[in-house]
Amino acid sequence: MSKAKSKVTVAIHKLTSCSGCQLAFLNQGKALLSLLEIVEFKHFIEAGVYEPDAKVDLAFIEGSVSTPEDLKRLQEVRNNAKLLVSIGACATSGGVQALRNLADGDVWKRGVYPHPEFIATLDTSTPVAEHVKIDFELWGCPITVQQIRHFVQQLTLGTLPQPEMEKLCMECKRQQNVCVVVTRQAPCLGPVTRTGCGALCPEFGKACYGCFGASEQPNARSLANRFSGLGLVSEEVAQRFAAIHSHEPAFKAQVEHWQGLSVREIE
Ligand code: SF4
Ligand code: SF4
Repeated sequence: MSKAKSKVTVAIHKLTSCSGCQLAFLNQGKALLSLLEIVEFKHFIEAGVYEPDAKVDLAFIEGSVSTPEDLKRLQEVRNNAKLLVSIGACATSGGVQALRNLADGDVWKRGVYPHPEFIATLDTSTPVAEHVKIDFELWGCPITVQQIRHFVQQLTLGTLPQPEMEKLCMECKRQQNVCVVVTRQAPCLGPVTRTGCGALCPEFGKACYGCFGASEQPNARSLANRFSGLGLVSEEVAQRFAAIHSHEPAFKAQVEHWQGLSVREIE
């Protein structure tokens, strides 16, 4: 067997997304060269490799299912891959575009586009796991270089990594950051958000936006009550939980509980 044939064949696909998560692969710098010693990219448009229907050992998929084309493409990607890994908030929970699930998408289409009849879209934006079997999920908006490295390292050992579900507060405390809830009364989502970003926002004195989705056992209701106690009005509490992962069940429950007028009601 030739050396090239012994490499793990990899494809990186995209549905509805901003492509930010794919950049984490390119942002690896020198580590990308090491990765190329063990993997062969068959399809990775951002790196100039194009073979969308290649059958591969491992496929990463970015983006949410937001259009009929997304749905069709997702089925093809699943059929062509032995292992399928969803990457980023869009793929794992529907992403920012899942805000449409809380409203009437037709109202938004008519309000935004002069010719809404040209827009072919589904009524919802949903995670890929709602449509096909997924073997592993990498959460984040965007995912990080470290997540990819850890995942590939585990894979080379012949196993999938354990999902990282620890609360961001744990990571934040280990870094000895000053808590922005205690010192600034800032509505930080760290107590219910999974770790993985390095507590980036609290490190710079900002409240966590929840980019990495819900942690293990998220007590979102209590945190939402705390935000209310900090002085946020109901709509602001809802917006904190809706920003990136509005379709994630724990966050969605708080959005629905605290949101005021819906777009449909405004109309
Ligand atoms: S998860 Fe965030 S960074 Fe990744 S594709 Fe979606 S919007 Fe872009
Ligand atoms: S700043 Fe946020 S993430 Fe850090 S300890 Fe406080 S609540 Fe937790």
